[in-house]
Amino acid sequence: MSPEVSSSENAEKIAAQTAWKKCLDIIRDNINQQSFKTWFEPIIPVKLVGEELTIQVPSQFFYEWIEENYYALLKRTIIDVIGRNAKLTYSVVVQQSPIEPVTVRLPQQPVEQPQAREIKTSRVAYDFYKSNVHRYESYLNPKYVFESFIKGDCNALAFAAAKSVAETPGNNTFNPLVLYGGVGLGKTHLAQAIGNAVRAKQKAEMILYVSCEKFTLDFINAIQTNRRSEFSAFYRNVDLLIIDDIQFFADKEKTQEEVFHIFNTLHQANKQIVLTCDRPIKDLRGMEERLLSRFTWGLSADLQPPDFETRLAILQKKMEDNGVTLPNDVIHFIATNVVSNIRELEGCLIKLMATASLHGRDIDLPLAKTVLKDIIRDRSANITLEMIEKVVCDYYKLSPNDLKGKSRKQELALARQMAMFLGKQLTNSSFKTIGLHFGGRDHSTVIHAVNAIEKEQNESPEIRKDIEELKKRLEILAL
Ligand code: ADP
Ligand code: MG
Repeated sequence: MSPEVSSSENAEKIAAQTAWKKCLDIIRDNINQQSFKTWFEPIIPVKLVGEELTIQVPSQFFYEWIEENYYALLKRTIIDVIGRNAKLTYSVVVQQSPIEPVTVRLPQQPVEQPQAREIKTSRVAYDFYKSNVHRYESYLNPKYVFESFIKGDCNALAFAAAKSVAETPGNNTFNPLVLYGGVGLGKTHLAQAIGNAVRAKQKAEMILYVSCEKFTLDFINAIQTNRRSEFSAFYRNVDLLIIDDIQFFADKEKTQEEVFHIFNTLHQANKQIVLTCDRPIKDLRGMEERLLSRFTWGLSADLQPPDFETRLAILQKKMEDNGVTLPNDVIHFIATNVVSNIRELEGCLIKLMATASLHGRDIDLPLAKTVLKDIIRDRSANITLEMIEKVVCDYYKLSPNDLKGKSRKQELALARQMAMFLGKQLTNSSFKTIGLHFGGRDHSTVIHAVNAIEKEQNESPEIRKDIEELKKRLEILAL
């Protein structure tokens, strides 16, 4: 690089610094201190060439935010400081790489004022909603609290993040907090628990839980009845906003736009936002890029299907809460068979409790199996003894002859017992049929095998892992 170039670059940089300092003086007088600190202090003036000022912003989000909220102020300011034809160019820092000059010119034509500002100052609309606030419940269900949520490896991060958000709503780096995972894994429960905890500790005034569908319907309704600005004002004054199942915003462009503006207003005001979704944000389709980029701004925490121990703990907790006790083998039967949905675990318990009170008798394993036939057999309806034979042989690396043969070697005996146990649990076969299938054994041998594995299941994590894996493979095979 020749000295001339570097000195002219230097001059451009100094000119930019001087000009930008003057701009900041004007801006500072026009916005509140918090916003100034957040949005203007991090900006670095890069160069001033002619009347074109280049500034560097830390992220795409930053750029969009400034464009969205401070366009008019910025334009006025640079014209004042630099001259009538002043232009502003942004250079956005892309992640870790050095400045990647995504140069975006500030439009010369005045753009339509974003709705955000109009509505923020719409005192009337706000007052209207304030005075009607009692009509708005928070829609929190008191049943969904942290105390009734069982923590396991499957949900540890989500749980910890939710608790932390509930302690300091808005003032943390988890904003928004996105909880994502499959159906019935506790997203709604955790999201609501945040709301309930914040309310109990009075850490925020206006707390609102809303499903994506309700939000969308209310929004459409507001447009149809000419109350859009009231709708917006209402949401912009919430202190903790929980939106459940945001995947349903897909392809709803107008609603997304509204969410975008609400998000911006709340986020800037350090209000907490909690979202739930049935998949990671990056897998959402039909959503505006700028909205997705905001959703990934805080923390995304996933909820995985619970492991066996967690399933047991959940069942035990639910029994406690309902004041019932069921025999251990029944609880194990449920925990072993309902693997991927906590709502279904609960469903089993409720069904059993209803049966017990209806028939006035205690629940034992045979009755439980009959009562839960629809729920539990469903997933294994197609499983046959042949499939079990195949999967067990593959898993333990044995031949069918080994499995059915007479050898009493320990690993063979275990595989055989396991096959019989699965046969009893997953098919409708009698002890006799199972015995005949696995090497012509009599029914007492099968009963012994089933009992032995059930006992092991209580005591050995390895056996539980084997059972889970075998069942998973069988379910896939039986699809
Ligand atoms: P999602 O919103 O992910 O579909 P929910 O939050 O509605 O799932 O959970 C389904 C049911 O399972 C609820 O009744 C909830 O209380 C219960 N549940 C889910 N996860 C847990 C957990 N870890 N501990 C206790 N109950 C849970
Ligand atoms: Mg839910």
